Amino acid sequence: MSECVFCRIVAGSIPATRVHEDEHTVAFMDIGQVNPGHVLVALKAHAENVYALDDAQAAAVFRAAARVARGIRAAFQPQGLSVYQANGQSAGQTVFHFHIHLVPRHEGDGMALTWPVKNPAREKLEEHAAKIRAALR
Ligand code: 5GP
Ligand code: ZN
Repeated sequence: MSECVFCRIVAGSIPATRVHEDEHTVAFMDIGQVNPGHVLVALKAHAENVYALDDAQAAAVFRAAARVARGIRAAFQPQGLSVYQANGQSAGQTVFHFHIHLVPRHEGDGMALTWPVKNPAREKLEEHAAKIRAALR
């Protein structure tokens, strides 16, 4: 049996409160509920992070996230909704099985992500972009 908690949820060997399921994905209530209606959309296959997804998995997981997001909006009428996804400990990932958080948001709900903008010169953006373009070739 896998050590991975989300693999166990997918297999049904530990309980989870499911809201949606398809060939590649399962969506279930996050146990922590940052706000009521907080859902995780996870891959069924064990892929640790975004880098490990193949094209079919990547498409399926975001399709499911968009679908469940519409369900959350209809069910909870939140003022907003945050889509959050962490890769690696430094990014805040705590469960190393790919998942997307859907968090309904309200003014003053206390959820915060600091966003320390640097506003570099355009030449710096070009320099960064050139590195990424080269890596994508
Ligand atoms: P991460 O920090 O990796 O982005 O998010 C992991 C999330 O998984 C956390 O929000 C945490 O509450 C949730 N989580 C951890 N263990 C369980 C569990 O056994 N069941 C459910 N439903 N959620 C879990
Ligand atoms: Zn897993």
